Amino acid sequence: MSEQVPRGFSWSASRHGMFEDCPRAYFFHYYLALGKARGADRARGFEAKRLRSMTSVPMWIGSCVHDAIESALKAVRAGEIVDLDRVREQMLERMRGDYVASRDDLAKQRRDYRTLVRFHEHEYGPVPEPSAWKAAADDAVEMFHRWGQLSYLPDVQSLDAGQILGIEDLDSWEFHGVPVWVKIDLAYRDAEGSVHILDWKTGRRVTPENPTQMTGYAIYAQRNWNVELEALRVREVYLRLENPEKVCEVSEETLALAQDKILESIRSMIGALENPAVNVAVEQDFPAAPADWRCSRCFFRGICEEKVINA
Ligand code: SF4
Repeated sequence: MSEQVPRGFSWSASRHGMFEDCPRAYFFHYYLALGKARGADRARGFEAKRLRSMTSVPMWIGSCVHDAIESALKAVRAGEIVDLDRVREQMLERMRGDYVASRDDLAKQRRDYRTLVRFHEHEYGPVPEPSAWKAAADDAVEMFHRWGQLSYLPDVQSLDAGQILGIEDLDSWEFHGVPVWVKIDLAYRDAEGSVHILDWKTGRRVTPENPTQMTGYAIYAQRNWNVELEALRVREVYLRLENPEKVCEVSEETLALAQDKILESIRSMIGALENPAVNVAVEQDFPAAPADWRCSRCFFRGICEEKVINA
């Protein structure tokens, strides 16, 4: 890439998704909330930081299930005997604590936005009925139970510790001087030398494949685990579905296409900066994309002057 990469700039599939969805929300999340907005009001920046740390009930269910699976897999890797009932109870205990923390807005009271949860639903409403919170916990339990019935835990238990390559590790690979972040739910090498990458999905529908995310996984695996493309098996696992596994296509062709897309995305993001050599942004350079469906679920609507909420 001929352009200079500003210091501190990095790329991820989720960053790309936010930039495409609403550039103003992207500005709030990656610049205003992180103190990288030129001419910004300090109090508004602090509020952006608070809003950035929020979650929504569907996202929270997903992260509770992911964390429970991570805990079980890491226990296996440590050579422990895993009691899935105990892990499930720990997950439910955490969910109860998160609910109280969000309801009482403990994050704001204690100024702890890192460990205390605040839901979009409590911040902006409508607040779900008690039955909906119960349904959320049931959903998480159901998905964790289904995961426990699939073969992944015994598969991992049969491996040597050295064959388990990663469990929810956040890492990056470099592309044209830009760190590209990846977080792989589970990666392991089987006895034949194939590398398996698994991505747990907690949404209700099979989503279209995200080629940039899969490419990130594939290139990271090639560079870090010395695996040929033909020996790479990437699967999405939909924990709500009867047939949960979806095999993802990763070929030289999809890799080349996705890398073009990542490069284009990086150029657009850097090109939007007032001075592309410095990772500091100006709000007006990131146009808002208001739409009722989008703004009503946006974490930043409390500070956005362009929001459209019809409800
Ligand atoms: S409230 Fe709407 S316009 Fe404003 S940042 Fe969020 S999605 Fe974009």
